[in-house]
Amino acid sequence: MAIDPLLLVYALPLLAVWAGWVLLAKMRSAKARATLEDNRQAGLTEPATLHPVIEPALCLGCAACIRACPEKKILGLIDGKAVLIEPTSCVGHGACATACPTDAITLVFGSATRGVDIPLLTPEFETTVPGIYIAGELGGMGLIKNAIEQGRQAIAGIARKAGHMPGGEGVLDVLIVGCGPAGIAASLGAIERKLSFATVDQDSFGGTVAHFPRGKVVMTSPATLPIIGEMRFGEVSKEHLLAYWEGVQQQTGLKPRFEEQVTAVTRNGGHFDITTSKASYRAKMVLLAIGRRGTPRPLGVPGEELGKVVYRLIDPEQYIGKRVLVVGGGDSALEAAIRVAEQPGTTVAISYRGNSYARARAKNRNRLRDLVQEGRVREMLGSTVSKIEPDAVIMQLAAETETLANDDVIICAGGLMPNDFLNATGIRSETKFGTV
Ligand SMILES: Cc1cc2nc3c(=O)[nH]c(=O)nc-3n(C[C@H](O)[C@H](O)[C@H](O)COP(=O)(O)OP(=O)(O)OC[C@H]3O[C@@H](n4cnc5c(N)ncnc54)[C@H](O)[C@@H]3O)c2cc1C
Repeated sequence: MAIDPLLLVYALPLLAVWAGWVLLAKMRSAKARATLEDNRQAGLTEPATLHPVIEPALCLGCAACIRACPEKKILGLIDGKAVLIEPTSCVGHGACATACPTDAITLVFGSATRGVDIPLLTPEFETTVPGIYIAGELGGMGLIKNAIEQGRQAIAGIARKAGHMPGGEGVLDVLIVGCGPAGIAASLGAIERKLSFATVDQDSFGGTVAHFPRGKVVMTSPATLPIIGEMRFGEVSKEHLLAYWEGVQQQTGLKPRFEEQVTAVTRNGGHFDITTSKASYRAKMVLLAIGRRGTPRPLGVPGEELGKVVYRLIDPEQYIGKRVLVVGGGDSALEAAIRVAEQPGTTVAISYRGNSYARARAKNRNRLRDLVQEGRVREMLGSTVSKIEPDAVIMQLAAETETLANDDVIICAGGLMPNDFLNATGIRSETKFGTV
């Protein structure tokens, strides 16, 4: 049977387009699968906050969720179905669930294998310890707008109670712990309501936002800051948002105390005694706005208190021309070593007590291996730091001791999670295993 030539004229281009589309889909699927596998091998499988669970039977594979995700590349299509391929990078925007045309996505906390502890809170954000409140991501919900809203509402509840509670000499109405979005909103609310308060943060201004990668586009819906009014941003750079908040700080006279870590909160009669790394406070109430990112884990070695020791890489350019030691074997450590080694004139060593970087992504392991081979990073596996001095670090490698000339130390040894702090304070939580 002869084929109509006109049919070929139309059918062939269509066939070519279809074949191209199938090929592209296969390539994307392979890339998404590789990312998922890489994260599984590195143990990066548990999202920190609210995240999507996709019902494959309902998923059409239309990719609306992938396009809607502001963080990009968190979800991918594998064999025509949406999959959470970068679980630990999900920050809980929830835009994927809204965009899904078939309601195939549910937003949950925790997973079947690993539960997430969510503190039990009243609608006024009070914990199971009367007088201690929680606002922001520590309460379970991520996102800047939620943190601001909760900080604002929690301080309103605290202000309603403060007037009816006995005070006394040197007793604050409230101590606000943490100066991220929740702590900023709460502190402004405390000024507005004329409460006696102090805000302390173990780090600096802006909380987790201050540690976003340089130039990160922050997605945030409008939120209302006490005194200031509506903060109208959609997409904004991290730097712009921080500059805006610093302007608010100057305008309102807000004076948080930085580099001051709260280590214990105990009830003492009608008030709380709060111990920090620098001082002690007495307050009628405490607002915990400490997020869920935890506190960097120190090495506990002599000299760690020196100013040259930091626990996060913020600006790689500050290390140009410097001799830098990075400590750790996870992604943060490898990324820090890589980015510092890419700066001109740096001498970089990475020390890890293990014998391989099993907890890091393949992408980082491969890049580090290249830099080691090029002689741009010295790899010190099976080593530990025994002392940090102003111009050197004393290292222990098996039975040998080595003195490493050094200007800066970046320690990326994981974090102490806030759950320990909550447990020690007596605050009860509920463990969520993949539920809302
Ligand atoms: C990579 C990344 C990208 C993100 N992108 C976005 C985005 O685009 N849009 C968005 O809305 N959200 C985003 N998020 C989520 C957002 O950053 C958080 O939800 C938000 O910062 C939570 O605010 P918070 O005030 O509750 O806590 P945090 O911002 O985490 O602040 C907590 C503060 O408490 C301090 N602290 C902790 N423990 C103590 C202690 N014991 N003593 C004293 N101080 C303490 C910390 O130093 C910190 O400053 C992102 C998160 C990450 C990790």
